[in-house]
Amino acid sequence: MPRYYRYLGELLDEGVERISSNELSLKMNVTASQIRQDLNNFGGFGQQGYGYNVQYLYEEIGRILGLEQQHNIIIIGVGNLGQALANYGSFEKMGFMITGLFDINPALDGHMVRGVPVRMLSELEEFAAGHKIDIAALTMPKHTADKLARRLVNLGIRAIWNFAHVDLELMDQDVVVENVHLSDSLMQLSYNMLRNGKKKERQEKGDTENR
Ligand code: ATP
Repeated sequence: MPRYYRYLGELLDEGVERISSNELSLKMNVTASQIRQDLNNFGGFGQQGYGYNVQYLYEEIGRILGLEQQHNIIIIGVGNLGQALANYGSFEKMGFMITGLFDINPALDGHMVRGVPVRMLSELEEFAAGHKIDIAALTMPKHTADKLARRLVNLGIRAIWNFAHVDLELMDQDVVVENVHLSDSLMQLSYNMLRNGKKKERQEKGDTENR
């Protein structure tokens, strides 16, 4: 769904009003039948002979993804990664607003990132009492992540976007965690590169032997 949302947003920016499953399939590199199946699962937005109304589909998928409401995010750990997230303006376009930044390093106290001041972690409870927090992003070292996650849950925060190098598994059924491990993704890329290289080597060897 997020991928459909992203592509449909691009189509809207390009002024495209409607699109067939075939056209969308070429653009997204997914089969047209897969597209029809995916979108039918979410309420059959298409019309025979017309295709999909891009605006309508974009809004419906946005609604399914919960994007019609604003989400307030706090970031804990304002190092390089935390600052990069805080500086990334595109999240706001989807309604994800960075409203609080927290760290334990006193040198960062009061430092502003895109208009948001860094607060000390000791101020978290006070901040939470006066501000609605929907999501906490963890971009601090892994050794404190578990304990901090528990503290966040106790404050009523129900969604954790975890970049710390640990798989957080909270037992609370009403808390959702999205573990994002950028280095896992990079290692996967490295593995795929290696595999591609080997495939190419085998092909070249086969070509030479066939000559
Ligand atoms: P990055 O990994 O983002 O490049 P870094 O290398 O400067 O940052 P890290 O050790 O990964 O440093 O820590 C990231 C940030 O998290 C730092 O600003 C650090 O002060 C902060 N930090 C460390 N421990 C905690 C904690 N328990 N709670 C909140 N912030 C923390």
